[in-house]
Amino acid sequence: MAMRIAILILFILCLSLDRGHALQEFEAADGTSTLKQDVPQKHEVHCSRERSRAAWKIIEEYLTPFVEEEQYEIPSKCRLHPDNDMFREQEEHKIHIDTNEWRCGLCKKSFRVEKFLDQHFDNRHSNLIDDSQGRCLADLCGALHCDLMDDTKKSKNKCNPGAMSRNRHLCESLADSCFPTNQGRSTSRLHELFLRQFCDAHTCNGGKKPFSRGGRKQSSVFYVALCILTVLLLPVFYLIVYLHQREMKTGIQDLKRISKSGHKSKPS
Ligand SMILES: [Zn+2]
Repeated sequence: MAMRIAILILFILCLSLDRGHALQEFEAADGTSTLKQDVPQKHEVHCSRERSRAAWKIIEEYLTPFVEEEQYEIPSKCRLHPDNDMFREQEEHKIHIDTNEWRCGLCKKSFRVEKFLDQHFDNRHSNLIDDSQGRCLADLCGALHCDLMDDTKKSKNKCNPGAMSRNRHLCESLADSCFPTNQGRSTSRLHELFLRQFCDAHTCNGGKKPFSRGGRKQSSVFYVALCILTVLLLPVFYLIVYLHQREMKTGIQDLKRISKSGHKSKPS
């Protein structure tokens, strides 16, 4: 009997020891330590988050302003549609508080660098990623000129005619699926714009530059300039108002003095 009880106690002891192992201290990417039940299984995703982000930035800057202007709704079968970017949901839960502070909008955890928040998303919120086929925006980087966003890759390699023609083909197929020309004038205009903005530059002649139709940046530069000008002119405006008021006051005092001295000089 005593032997049985001893074995039982030993068994319970072993079980609790195992649990203690699972409840190990987990060192997070930002240096803060958190207690976690167990280390999560990392889901392997074969799509670059950085390249997808670069592609998204290009779409936002050089395509979205024109799409909005035409009040056009990009069809969901178009690979440029936000639903076809597997990282979109995670990216939308990023909160950029300061230069050195990034926060996860889901669990409010803070990180010093965006890269660590990316790792956090990979480790903790990979359930938000649906990596089914055709949802990797980075795959469109060739067509969208993502290398122009990356300073290290800018005009580094010699022009490869084969790659250029592949990119051009991908670019034109995007134009066809996203802006079908048989669906009205605004769609045709966007189709044309897409070709000029992204596809024309896929040539080794070097004559055509991408984003020839411009983007959102110009308007934002104009907006920033306007803000700076307003901030600079505001004190000048207040100074003028202040000086004007002071002049008015001294004018009234002078008038009072004149009228007083007038009263005094009157013979009684
Ligand atoms: Zn989180």
